[in-house]
Amino acid sequence: MSETAAETAISATLRDPSLAGLVDSGHFDGMSPAEILTWTVEKFGDRFALQCSFGNPEGLVLLDMLSRIQPRPRVFVLDTGRMPQATYDLIDRVRDRYDARIEVVFPEARAVQEMVEEHGVNLFYESLEKRKLCCRIRKVEPSRRYLAGLDAYVTGLRREQNVTREDTPRVSADGTALKINPLVDWTHDDVWAYVRQHDVPVNRLHSEGYPTVGCEPCTRAIRAGEDPRAGRWWWEDEATKECGLHVGEEEGGSGI
Ligand code: SF4
Repeated sequence: MSETAAETAISATLRDPSLAGLVDSGHFDGMSPAEILTWTVEKFGDRFALQCSFGNPEGLVLLDMLSRIQPRPRVFVLDTGRMPQATYDLIDRVRDRYDARIEVVFPEARAVQEMVEEHGVNLFYESLEKRKLCCRIRKVEPSRRYLAGLDAYVTGLRREQNVTREDTPRVSADGTALKINPLVDWTHDDVWAYVRQHDVPVNRLHSEGYPTVGCEPCTRAIRAGEDPRAGRWWWEDEATKECGLHVGEEEGGSGI
């Protein structure tokens, strides 16, 4: 779907239907990430939050930008219970560096318990269906519950990241919330130039060969010449590599 078509598809499910018209009018075309964040702060105040995985530099770049615009910005991270220690360490570093309200969102304990009792703790290696089930229970459902309390949220998605993200719109509807992706047009080099220029804290595993850091059992370092996404769910086809957070189906196939 083209960006225009996707943006036009913003529906009346939004709490504020007037936003659809704003998007359709091309209001966000040509705006810089900082300009989009400024608009978001003015429009939503405390009714939006930044989604940050602490496993990619993009969310941290946006947090750095946001902290220059809004005091004590809201940030949420989905704690799947399977993240590497490096990611938990980064959350604490970021908490010290920025005066941000970091909200840690957990899956439902009972759902996790029932899943692992039926399928085992390492079910994700057994089939695509079981991997998606794990992502749905540990990521997608907690995300849906959290987002139901927001009017908008901001992500660090970029079109360049994966074939599944080539058509990512700058702004779209996600249930009742407006989903805002200020970095869609940025390149990998743009992101890392910002990190260096502003000394943004990032996950230490990046320096150990991890382009992105997800759950510990589902992420590995890549070798020279490998695609950056090769370290996520490396036993699957490229086209299935989404966790469902950023696709239009509940159990879809990314990694945050
Ligand atoms: S990335 Fe792996 S461990 Fe994490 S939720 Fe998905 S399947 Fe489960």
